[in-house]
Amino acid sequence: MENYPGFSKIEGFKLSQKFEEHLKALDVPLKVGVEVIKIVKDNNIFKVNTSQNTYFSKSVIYGAGWSFVKLGIDGEDKFLGRGVSYCAVCDAPFYKGKIVAVIGRGEIAVEEALYLTRFASKVYLFLLNKKMKLPPHLEKELENTKNLEIILGANVEKIEGKLFVEKLIYTKDKEKKELKVDGVFIFAGLKPNIEPVKELVETTKAGFIITDENMQTKTPLLFAVGDIRQKVLRQIVTACSDGAIAAQAAYKFLRQMKSS
Ligand SMILES: Cc1cc2nc3c(=O)[nH]c(=O)nc-3n(C[C@H](O)[C@H](O)[C@H](O)COP(=O)(O)OP(=O)(O)OC[C@H]3O[C@@H](n4cnc5c(N)ncnc54)[C@H](O)[C@@H]3O)c2cc1C
Repeated sequence: MENYPGFSKIEGFKLSQKFEEHLKALDVPLKVGVEVIKIVKDNNIFKVNTSQNTYFSKSVIYGAGWSFVKLGIDGEDKFLGRGVSYCAVCDAPFYKGKIVAVIGRGEIAVEEALYLTRFASKVYLFLLNKKMKLPPHLEKELENTKNLEIILGANVEKIEGKLFVEKLIYTKDKEKKELKVDGVFIFAGLKPNIEPVKELVETTKAGFIITDENMQTKTPLLFAVGDIRQKVLRQIVTACSDGAIAAQAAYKFLRQMKSS
């Protein structure tokens, strides 16, 4: 992780451990490994249903981030972490000198495939778009990249291997084909994790939660912070900033309610 003040570079896991230590020092109870299933508001009280307990609260600060969209290809889940990845920046160095396939849509898939060509000996890009107009700089970069091959109009059916990914099975022009690969990178988009609060918030078309400048959603005292919000820059420093603003606003609004 970079760009977080005080740490020129730190592993994400180590930074999260530091956050945890900080919370413990402030006596904030942590519930690890608990999934929030649904949040409802009834009589000015939020009911937070989780995989373990139900919690009641006057205010909720929600920061569930986003997940990568899965394509549902046979083998996608089975080989996750064993050849299937959703993050080129995280995993590209493992594929130095190897053959990888990128399956995805949009400019993001092209960008990620180009990034992978710096590590892999060969990158096959299965573009799922029926039609796509690329900006000139990407067109030019594609032209100049010799170890990238684009495969259009294919239907990827299966990722196969023993312990790790070994090949892709796909059909193109009604013909079944096999491609030997060491890794498969999937870039089909992002999905904000709004399921538990979706009835309580307003979102953009892409599903990111719209808040006011206090981070408050359309439901009073429900705040949304971090990557799940509609915002211009998704970084740790801006997520922390959102959290600080929301915590301060929740405190202020609850005090106002108490004294009115
Ligand atoms: C590959 C990559 C590299 C990055 N590098 C940098 C960098 O160098 N510097 C930087 O500043 N930023 C970086 N970022 C961005 C940064 O990681 C995010 O902006 C930041 O983590 C957002 O924090 P968040 O708390 O909003 O979301 P997240 O960090 O995504 O945390 C959300 C948490 O909520 C959990 N969750 C989701 N749904 C539920 C549920 N129903 N119940 C319970 N828990 C749930 C998730 O499991 C997750 O732990 C990077 C992002 C990526 C993908």
